[in-house]
Amino acid sequence: MPSLTPDAREKLAAYLRFQQEFGIERVRMPAEFAAAAPISTPEAPVRAAPRPAGERLGATLGEIQADLGSDCRRCKLHQGRQTIVFGEGNPQAELVFVGEGPGADEDAQGRPFVGRGGQLLNDMIQKGMGLRREQVYICNVVKCRPPGNRTPEADESAACSPFLLRQLQAIRPRMVCALGATAAQALRPYKGSLASVRGVIHPLRVGDLETQLVVTYHPAFLLRDPSQKREAWNDLQLIMGCLGLR
Ligand code: SF4
Repeated sequence: MPSLTPDAREKLAAYLRFQQEFGIERVRMPAEFAAAAPISTPEAPVRAAPRPAGERLGATLGEIQADLGSDCRRCKLHQGRQTIVFGEGNPQAELVFVGEGPGADEDAQGRPFVGRGGQLLNDMIQKGMGLRREQVYICNVVKCRPPGNRTPEADESAACSPFLLRQLQAIRPRMVCALGATAAQALRPYKGSLASVRGVIHPLRVGDLETQLVVTYHPAFLLRDPSQKREAWNDLQLIMGCLGLR
């Protein structure tokens, strides 16, 4: 086996630590180490989202973003924001992650999930599911940062979530993953705890789009309570099974 550089060894150790924390039993070796270590991983499929032949596409993500505008004041969250964080990723992704709202890092950079929680989400996508971040689409229920990172209020979610629903209709993913209670409530209102809607694949209808929803914990919650990472991994495996990523 060719030797690893100290930098590669450090990255590999971090990678294996991630696998252990999430209780991932089958080692999925990232491509960067595959050349140095004789453990291979199948290349994750990159497939366009299914669109019936002749289907007329609705508004594009660009048109939806233009409708939202660069100075939206539909709810009070506009008061403290620096930037509107619309979302980013593959406009034809098979999998869309929906979080709650931007935090300080996201507000500063105008990109979703770029702070510590975003790094964990990247690891879940890349090290866990074997996908690249650019293959999925990532957005939030509210596009502006709630003050002090508080949970968005009902009127704020109500004002902004129509744009989320339009984003889903434009992307037409096969799977949607709600990260945390705010996203789950916006997509599939429920009573009770988040645990009551986790661990199951829910049918999800958004306008003419029929897709599927899996609810899991928000990465920020997993940073606070790492003991739930294995439960989150179980949820991600539901998605991977539906997308043929096992
Ligand atoms: Fe507009 Fe959404 Fe920002 Fe509220 S959170 S001001 S609805 S973009």
